Amino acid sequence: MSDNYLTVIATDPYWRPSKDAADRAAVVLSGMLADDDARRGLEAKWHDSVEVVDCGANLKKISCQHCGAECSPGWWGKAVSERYDEGFSTLMVTVPCCDAETSLNELVYDWPMGFARFRLEVMYPNRGWLTDEELASLTNALGHPLRQILIHI
Ligand SMILES: [Zn+2]
Repeated sequence: MSDNYLTVIATDPYWRPSKDAADRAAVVLSGMLADDDARRGLEAKWHDSVEVVDCGANLKKISCQHCGAECSPGWWGKAVSERYDEGFSTLMVTVPCCDAETSLNELVYDWPMGFARFRLEVMYPNRGWLTDEELASLTNALGHPLRQILIHI
């Protein structure tokens, strides 16, 4: 038994939309789903603090956006749990490969994942990635640039 989600988050992990904007975006996203089954799984989720939006089994590797070196899963897990212990008041870390200061949210995730205080999520979306045009209309409805994540648990 596995679960699939199509999740859309703001590129700024701390940003949250107004209720109106979230409702607007949910309507737009709903229109991109094929059937009522998929629409029933659509939910806007608000978090008090930043949460890791993990893509689950889809994650292949994480790399440094400065030098391209691969980040070891052990280092990454430790960095995330240290920031988590601080309530994710910051996501800044120093990468071991080239000593650059960067946000955990800006590392190169293959597949995409991220950090967020708000997400629009569809359980069992019954479709794949949103097209550039679809993502652009969602961005427009929500009022902030977005990142999409396909979660497979
Ligand atoms: Zn590096």
